[in-house]
Amino acid sequence: MSYCNECGKKNDDDAQYCTKCGNYLAKNSSIEKDIDKFAEEFGRKAEQFGKRIEKKAKAFAKSVDQSSRSTTMHCSDCGTELDSDAKFCRKCGKKIE
Ligand SMILES: [Zn+2]
Ligand SMILES: [Zn+2]
Repeated sequence: MSYCNECGKKNDDDAQYCTKCGNYLAKNSSIEKDIDKFAEEFGRKAEQFGKRIEKKAKAFAKSVDQSSRSTTMHCSDCGTELDSDAKFCRKCGKKIE
């Protein structure tokens, strides 16, 4: 005789599923629960990992963006090549965004 660990209903030994609630009764149900737990944890870790990758990718994209901008900075008005830390165009005085 096996008892359903969900609802407590007595079921035949060869029953695979509880006749009352449909819970899976096979002997490896604890392994199934472990797998569920593992899958849940894995999902959570994968999510964290994904967020971390996303953050790094954004930081990387930002740094690439900044470095490419710093090597090719030109005044938007007159086209004069400017230092990467210039706040104003040295030729026409235009404020650099
Ligand atoms: Zn049951
Ligand atoms: Zn200029």
